Amino acid sequence: MVEIFNDYNVKNHTTFKIGGNVKKAAFPSSVSELIELLNLDEYDLVLGNCSNVLFSSENIDKSIIFTDKINEYKIENNIVKVCCGTKGPIVSKECSKKGLSGFEFLIGFPGSFGGMICMNASAHNQFISDCFISARVYDTNNKKLLILNKDEMEFGYRKSVINEKKYILLEAEFMLKEGDCEKIEEIMQRNTEFRKQRQPALSYPNAGSIFKNPENDSAGRLLDLCGLKGRISGGAQVFEKHANFIINKNNANSFDVISLMYEMYTNVREKYRIELKPEIKYIGNEGSREQKLWKIMTENIH
Ligand SMILES: Cc1cc2nc3c(=O)[nH]c(=O)nc-3n(C[C@H](O)[C@H](O)[C@H](O)COP(=O)(O)OP(=O)(O)OC[C@H]3O[C@@H](n4cnc5c(N)ncnc54)[C@H](O)[C@@H]3O)c2cc1C
Repeated sequence: MVEIFNDYNVKNHTTFKIGGNVKKAAFPSSVSELIELLNLDEYDLVLGNCSNVLFSSENIDKSIIFTDKINEYKIENNIVKVCCGTKGPIVSKECSKKGLSGFEFLIGFPGSFGGMICMNASAHNQFISDCFISARVYDTNNKKLLILNKDEMEFGYRKSVINEKKYILLEAEFMLKEGDCEKIEEIMQRNTEFRKQRQPALSYPNAGSIFKNPENDSAGRLLDLCGLKGRISGGAQVFEKHANFIINKNNANSFDVISLMYEMYTNVREKYRIELKPEIKYIGNEGSREQKLWKIMTENIH
């Protein structure tokens, strides 16, 4: 059954632990319930595990569908079928036990398959697109269901046809490689160790990398060269071990985060003439002061 709440507070629903109330929140528990909701045309946005978003701390005039209850998956031989809300680390661990290789990188971050496919998530030289076969999507413009193969997904760095054409990912199918359980487990442990050394754990609420890497460079390297590690804005802080992460250190609000991002963005622009683009998505109201700063960073309006 779909659960629906009015004036729903999203703060504890996000890995950043930031956000006000949204107008309406719906939690379908199956793909067919999700399709029914999408057909109503009443919702502004579909979200997964909210690990790559920054909600405004003000009340937000949007109705949102959250997919985290649509979390089924099936593994048959080396074929993995997942629903949009299924979380990466759960499937990654299960595949490792079955000696299936290709999802070792998913162990380190809390994304759902909908979010990961939408932005072609990657880490440690593996991309979600690597083992991808096909997906069932909902075309919101034409209210139609489509099956897309890998070419039709137009995967690129942090993008796919899903966000370009406002499709909603419903289900996807992957083909993994058969491998050795011990080796797969070893790679996963190495990935976990790498993150522990360099990135914030979720006990420091965060939303992963803040900016996308510019071509042939690393946003973290440029921000570090600008001396930004440890920089504070209100309750938000640039993580001391990696300058492309912001942590919610002390009850930060969305303005603290966006002001800090703007400082990071202008430092790199002035020093290196490179305009970093946010990797995280902002969800807020048109015309607010933080949305104006956000627009400068996303649309390069000075
Ligand atoms: C500690 C930490 C480490 C991270 N490390 C990495 C990393 O190494 N590599 C990496 O790529 N990311 C990383 N991330 C970021 C994040 O986990 C990924 O971007 C993930 O793919 C987001 O999935 P989500 O379900 O949380 O998406 P959400 O944050 O819920 O949504 C993100 C975007 O996806 C869209 N979306 C979600 N579901 C659907 C759907 N069903 N259909 C259509 N669109 C949808 C939303 O509309 C939104 O635009 C990290 C995050 C954290 C907190």
